[in-house]
Amino acid sequence: MSNKQQNILIIGAGLCGSLLALRLGQRGYNVTVYEMRPDLRTTDISAGRSINLAFSDRGNKAMKLVGIEDKVKALCIPMNGRMIHDKEGNTFLSNYSGRDYEYINSISRGELNGLLLTEAEKHDNVTIHFNKKCNSVDFEKTTATFQDYNSKDEFIEDADCIIATDGAGSALRKSYYLSHKFLFSFSQEYLSHGYKELTFLPKEDGGYKTYKNALHIWPRSSFMLIALPNLDGSFTVTLFLSYSEGEYNFNNLTTPEIVTEFFQKEFPDALEIMPNLVDDFFENPTAALGTVKCSPWHYKGNTLLMGDSAHAIVPFYGQGMNASFEDVVEFDKVLDQNLDNWEATFEAYEKNRKKDTDAIADLAIDNFHEMKGHVANPIFQEKRKIEMALEKEFPSAYSSKYSLVTFNEDIGYREAMLKGRAQDKAILNMLTDNIMSSDDDLKDILEKVNVETEAILEDDRIAGLH
Ligand code: FAD
Repeated sequence: MSNKQQNILIIGAGLCGSLLALRLGQRGYNVTVYEMRPDLRTTDISAGRSINLAFSDRGNKAMKLVGIEDKVKALCIPMNGRMIHDKEGNTFLSNYSGRDYEYINSISRGELNGLLLTEAEKHDNVTIHFNKKCNSVDFEKTTATFQDYNSKDEFIEDADCIIATDGAGSALRKSYYLSHKFLFSFSQEYLSHGYKELTFLPKEDGGYKTYKNALHIWPRSSFMLIALPNLDGSFTVTLFLSYSEGEYNFNNLTTPEIVTEFFQKEFPDALEIMPNLVDDFFENPTAALGTVKCSPWHYKGNTLLMGDSAHAIVPFYGQGMNASFEDVVEFDKVLDQNLDNWEATFEAYEKNRKKDTDAIADLAIDNFHEMKGHVANPIFQEKRKIEMALEKEFPSAYSSKYSLVTFNEDIGYREAMLKGRAQDKAILNMLTDNIMSSDDDLKDILEKVNVETEAILEDDRIAGLH
């Protein structure tokens, strides 16, 4: 396949699509991108779901690939750990890693997306069209139908191949599903919880009203509030709450009084810095959270799903964007193999990648339970203390599940999940059986954890779990 002759059409210029356009542009392909929304660099639109995001090593690996690591770094606010807030307003910081150089970052979706668009457009062989919505894809003819937002005119575009990075509600995925022309497996599972975005405004002098360099969590077992810092001194605050279950839920938080009472009871220290709570609460939408899994991602060599369109996940591991960026890195590695045609390329990519995106989807659900409840549980805190101590003392010999997923970009999500889950089980077993405590000699603890982890992994292998 000679790059110069290949026309690639990308649907959706969100985080994944704009990075993909940039990378394919760098590789010399002719790239045309159609995005349904206006250009977010020049129009004041909400950037989409979630104003800011946790950006970590797998995402950064993609930024290194396209050579914009330093520009992205300038947009980042490091978050060294989780700042847990109890109901009395007491706080404690639980670091993400025992290694000081490992942390995650808060980044603005709009700024990052804008940067990627600008970098992509620097390439003459990349063209991005805004306000053009894809209505359907004919994957047999490799054509897509778009509608212009202003004129409402429809037009058809063709290409050598089409890659859909149009997010969780993908038009290409819908076309696969509705066609009944091949066996397409698809599942979409909603959580019983939805989310609503709120804000801590900056101090009058532009400072932060609470500690800047942490991801703040108010875990309340069946619901939670989180907050991530923004560069302007504000925090984007997200309430995750059931739609219909529990004493307070989205369906019954219907008046300013009930909303204030709920926050007063559950998040009093947050309420103190949220004079804008009621306005935010009733102005901002409540949105659903779900997991999408599907296969195949590609139809022959004609079309391919990438990013959330192929694997939307719940946000609790802070990995949806990072995984979508890593998709581009993995796709790039397959392009390096110079396979004969797009079909072989798409097939190799999906074969290698899907096991990892399935794993992060499952890990993200696990972390939903961990964040809203377990982080406040004493045995979980004891386990975290041991993990932190092991990482600090043996930085190259031990990594917790969180570190394997978030900071260890050299192994895939699936490997991180299998090893991390076995380690978790090993430490929890040892703690509940009183085989060790955080006061034990760390070298002995490491040895015991490794032996127990290997035994669990071996049992799982024998049971055919992996
Ligand atoms: P999107 O970002 O959804 O982009 C899709 C693009 O396609 C959009 O620009 C859209 O306008 C366009 N589009 C859609 N349909 C069409 C169409 N028919 N025609 C043309 N264009 C179309 N991930 C993290 O890594 N860290 C986090 O902390 C994090 N927090 C999150 C918090 C919340 C509340 C949510 C909901 C998600 C969070 N995520 C996080 C996940 C992250 O937002 C997604 O994984 C990421 O946006 C996926 O990128 P994408 O480009 O595949 O899809």
